[in-house]
Amino acid sequence: MTAASGAGGDPPHVESLRTAVWTVPAERPEADGTLTWDATTLVTVHAEAAGVTGLGWTYGSPAAATVVDTHLAPAVTGRAVWDVPAANEAMTRAVRNAARPGIAGHAVSAVDIALWDLKARLLGLPLVSVLGAARDEVPVYGSGGFTTYGEAEQDRQIRTWTEESDIPRVKIKIGESWGTAEGRDRQRISAARRSAGAAELYVDANGGYTAKQAVRLAAHLDAEDVTWFEEPVSSDDLTGLARVRDAVRPDVAAGEYGYTLAYFEQMLAAGAVDCLQADVTRCGGVTVWLRAAALAEARGLQVSAHCAPHLHAHAAAAVPNLRHMEWFHDHVRIERALFSGCLDPTGGTVRPGADGSPGHGMELRGPDAEPYRDA
Ligand SMILES: [Mg+2]
Repeated sequence: MTAASGAGGDPPHVESLRTAVWTVPAERPEADGTLTWDATTLVTVHAEAAGVTGLGWTYGSPAAATVVDTHLAPAVTGRAVWDVPAANEAMTRAVRNAARPGIAGHAVSAVDIALWDLKARLLGLPLVSVLGAARDEVPVYGSGGFTTYGEAEQDRQIRTWTEESDIPRVKIKIGESWGTAEGRDRQRISAARRSAGAAELYVDANGGYTAKQAVRLAAHLDAEDVTWFEEPVSSDDLTGLARVRDAVRPDVAAGEYGYTLAYFEQMLAAGAVDCLQADVTRCGGVTVWLRAAALAEARGLQVSAHCAPHLHAHAAAAVPNLRHMEWFHDHVRIERALFSGCLDPTGGTVRPGADGSPGHGMELRGPDAEPYRDA
């Protein structure tokens, strides 16, 4: 145990939140079905108490840092470190008029993650041990396959996962140019199957298709043994998702834009997904991610962790109904470049907390990160 004045004494209190914004260029311009980008921005939050620092971050708008500084720091500082759900609730109430979904959701999530990390570090325990483990290993799937890749590059990336790292699950982006390049989508899916061999093959349309278009395409997915069809239509269209789900053989998945627990409940109640996705950097942090997983469990469904793998791993290991965690190319590249403590996905699983590091085990490497700091 570290020095936390815990049992019997006054609990440590959150003394400060410190934010920073970092922008990391993409390898070159990248795209999925409905978005193109040339850089990724992350907002970090450091939370301090009793000489110990917890770390959280989110991928999104730099405005999330302003939300933390303006609305969340006053709601959280001075609170008992142990009581993370109370801090989460206080943050949610503090941003009522700033709108909890969206940028404020990113901000709440980054702080919540930093507070869970802080608590675990004060206790000297891996975060998964503080949450309570439901499993030792978290399955991962390789995710990338951007629509901007040529055939050789897509092949190389898939084989990096399946052959170099023995990850038996891979995902590519389809729905290119809002579903207007369906012929190329089909070619890339077939090419991905040739590259992936016997590995599970998944696709993500990022909401690029119409419902009927998605159903027609699903025959090709089935022919190539694609078993996961993510956001065939917009996640805003729960009826459309449910119609596609009823009509196709691959599992339909969505939920990455869930910012509140109510969002996940509405998605599940609509019968929109076979597997619920949730993103700890958007939904309200570890606190709400675990609740979203429980909602899915109550309906007999699994949950899959969306992006930001090193922020999901410990929470993912704490739920019984986990399917897998997304080993997303861009975020893995960024997390390896800026942080120490990264996990090894060789064999297709990671083991959060196995080395005994307290908290989530990630540390910002200042000198390596500094060139990417926003002015
Ligand atoms: Mg997606």
